[in-house]
Amino acid sequence: MSTVFREAVIDLDQYRANIAQITSLVAPAAVLAVVKADAYGHGMVQCARAAIEAGATWLGTADRAEAHALRAAGITAPLLCWLHEPDAVFAAEVRDDIDLGISSRSQLRAAAAAGVAVGHPARVHLKVETGLGRNGIAEYDWEQVVREAAQAEQAGSITVVGIWSHLAGTSSESDAEQAAVFNSALALAVSLGIEPELRHLAASGAALAEPALRYDLVRIGIAGYGLSPWAAERGVDEFGLAPVMTLRSRVVAVRRVEPGHGVSYGHTWRAEHPTGLALVPLGYADGIPRQASGKAEVWLAGRRMPVVGRIAMDQFIVDTGDALVEVGDEVVVFGDGRTGAPTAEDWAGWADTIGYEIVTRIGQRVTREGAGA
Ligand SMILES: *Cc1c(COP(=O)(O)O)cnc(C)c1O
Repeated sequence: MSTVFREAVIDLDQYRANIAQITSLVAPAAVLAVVKADAYGHGMVQCARAAIEAGATWLGTADRAEAHALRAAGITAPLLCWLHEPDAVFAAEVRDDIDLGISSRSQLRAAAAAGVAVGHPARVHLKVETGLGRNGIAEYDWEQVVREAAQAEQAGSITVVGIWSHLAGTSSESDAEQAAVFNSALALAVSLGIEPELRHLAASGAALAEPALRYDLVRIGIAGYGLSPWAAERGVDEFGLAPVMTLRSRVVAVRRVEPGHGVSYGHTWRAEHPTGLALVPLGYADGIPRQASGKAEVWLAGRRMPVVGRIAMDQFIVDTGDALVEVGDEVVVFGDGRTGAPTAEDWAGWADTIGYEIVTRIGQRVTREGAGA
C-alpha cells in the first residue's frame, strides 16, 4: 500500500462473483467470458482462469493472437475468436483447438483448407449479419455459404459448432428484429443439414435484460467486469454485479493557494477562495480522459473532491478546500460506487463516453495488482 504510485487493483473475487451470478441468471444458457483487449484492461489470463473457475464454459477473444496467448498460458477451455486479418490462414488455430468465427465465404474456405492441411476439422461458428452492419455473412449470401459449409462438413474439413450474430442494442424492438433475421437464418441452415451445437446472439445487454435472446450461449464482457452495457441509462447493480477494477494513486504534492491562482495548462480554472490543491500522478497517458477536465471528481480524504484545471499527460490537480490532505494520501479515481468513490461509469459521463472505454484505456504505466487472486 505504501508503495502505490499508479495502480489498478483487480478484484478477481468480484469478477468470479459476477460471472457466477450471471451464470446462474442465464441458465440453462452457457456463458462465454469475453476477455479480448486484455480483458477490458483487467488482465486477460487471470480473468480467463477466474471466469472458468466461476462457471463460464467458454472464452472469447477478438483476435487470434489473443486466443493463442490463452493457449500458451495453458488454458484448455473452449475458445472462440472472431476478428481476422484479410489474408488469415487458420492452420495454427485448428492445431490449437481454437474455434473460428466465420464472417465470409473466403474465411470459410480458409478454415476448410486449414482443416485439410492439419488433418482434422476446423471448428467454426458461422456469423450471420442480422443488422449491426459490421461483419458477418449477408442474408443474400447466407444460403450459398451454408451449402458450402454443409459440403465441407460432409468432407470432414470443418465442423460447424455454432451459428451466431451480434446485436446493435438500439432498442428491444430492434434487437427483436435482429433475432427474427437470426431465426430465419438458423432455420435455413437446419434445412440444409447443418445442426449447430450452439446458437448465440446476446452480449451483456441482451443476456441480462432479454431472456428470450439467450439461446444456448451468451457472450459476456462488460457485465462480468461489473460495468453497465447501457451507459448511464441503467446500472448492473440491480443484477447483483459490482465493479472489478479500482484505479488508485497517491497525492505527490500539496500546496495552499490564494484567490486568483490559476491551475494547469491554459489556466482554465482559478481559485475563488483560499484553498488547498493536491497533485495526482495520473494523466491521459494513463487513460484518464482529458475531456473530463473540469468535471471529474475523485475520492480523497473520505470525500468526493473536484478535479480542477486541465488533465495533463501525467498528472491532474484536485481542489481539496480546507481538508487536511498530505503527500502520500490515497486517491481513488474510480472503483465500487458503494464505497463513495466515483465509478468508471461516472468518469464515462464526465468524458462523454462509456465505461468500456474508461477501463480498456488504462495505460501501460499503471501497474495491475490482483486482489483475491
Ligand atoms: C466485445 C464483444 C462481446 C462482449 O460485449 P459486452 O457488451 O462487453 O458484453 C460479445 N460479442 C462480440 C462479438 C464482441 O465483439
